[in-house]
Amino acid sequence: MMVAEKKHADIIIKGGAVVTMDDDLTIIEDGAIAIQGMEIAAIGIQSEIEAIYNGTQVIDADGQVVVPGLVNTHSHLAMTILRGIADDMKLEPWLEKIWKVEGEFATPENCRLGTQLALIEHIKGGATTTTDMYWHIEVTNDVAIEMGFRLVNGPIFIDFVGPDGVDPAQREKVARDFFETYEENPLVHPSVLAHSTYTVPDHLLRLCGELAQEFGAIFITHASESKGELEIVQKRYGKTAIEHLDALGLLTPHTLLAHCVHLRDDEIALLAERHTKVAHCPESNLKLGSGIARVPDMLRAGVTVGLGTDGAASNNDLNMWGEMRTAALIQKGISFNPTSLPASQAFRMATIEGAKALGLDHLIGSLEVGKRADIAIVDFQRTHLIPFYDYYSHLVYAVDRSDVRDVIINGQVVMRDRELTTIDDIAVLDQAREIREKIMQI
Ligand SMILES: [Zn+2]
Repeated sequence: MMVAEKKHADIIIKGGAVVTMDDDLTIIEDGAIAIQGMEIAAIGIQSEIEAIYNGTQVIDADGQVVVPGLVNTHSHLAMTILRGIADDMKLEPWLEKIWKVEGEFATPENCRLGTQLALIEHIKGGATTTTDMYWHIEVTNDVAIEMGFRLVNGPIFIDFVGPDGVDPAQREKVARDFFETYEENPLVHPSVLAHSTYTVPDHLLRLCGELAQEFGAIFITHASESKGELEIVQKRYGKTAIEHLDALGLLTPHTLLAHCVHLRDDEIALLAERHTKVAHCPESNLKLGSGIARVPDMLRAGVTVGLGTDGAASNNDLNMWGEMRTAALIQKGISFNPTSLPASQAFRMATIEGAKALGLDHLIGSLEVGKRADIAIVDFQRTHLIPFYDYYSHLVYAVDRSDVRDVIINGQVVMRDRELTTIDDIAVLDQAREIREKIMQI
């Protein structure tokens, strides 16, 4: 009898339940995944995959739950260095305080350190993709590439000389250079960033839209975050932020709006009609007293909503598990309705819906053949997870980020048995302790 030679896989994850987050929300008990290069080559029942594949590296996931890496759709990474520096303040005075400190601290060296801290926190918490909006983007990109982390990043537009020393008139050139440099990079996905309608003038907002279209990038901005913002924009333009963006032609399927806390019914309908995406940041919105976004109404209207942590100075952690849980709980509390935003929906928002919000669902957000191998393995053998009855219930209401055991991004193991493989995290923490003294002097 001929025995067919087995195919080669770089990594095989075997055993455990695979929560795929595909269109049918398929869960494979005793599953296995074969990874070849950057991609998932096969996924199925363990015995079937093992009959076909030999793995160079085999990760035993027996008793674990294998999920898509979590997708953070909104953050300001290097702000980890400013965590806890300005708490219990409203958005406007908070921004004033933060911008003052940033003016001095946002050097390339500090942004490098802050981004390293942020990505270590992301990996340890099972997140495999994040979205940045900050200064010195080339430094952030370098850190992400060195650490093997997937990053949505791009040139930022603002109407003053930023801490990166770039004049508003130079920003288009910086943007074009960025798109050319990172065009082929498998880990850096392009976006065009504008802080908001109240900090960026129309001609720069229009330019953002044009560049996003020319380079196939998503356009990201903050919108309708607080009542204070609404008042400023209304006074200046006689419109809401959503109406103003629409008048500029910036509500497109390739636009991602962070927050969207204060929306009227007709604005929700408009976002749905334009297929514009939303990054929901429940903890930042709660902490800054901005309000609670109408997520169930947006979902009912057909708006794609992902989850974001926002920066560590307004959250104050970069924990997507906490974000999921908060997102689900606050809707139940505010509506007196426990069926509002069920666990499976919250988990979708942290995975496949987040990927859709970033225009990356053809690559990430679910575990399917041909997609990038961005995977987190969660230890379901811990006290607070035994016994279990429903995967989504545990994943949203009971799992803690320290339950994440292994993380793979783009086919590379970046955390194995809770040990990081692409960065010396102890050295980064030492540097972070030292920087405190300097920041305190500002
Ligand atoms: Zn933000």
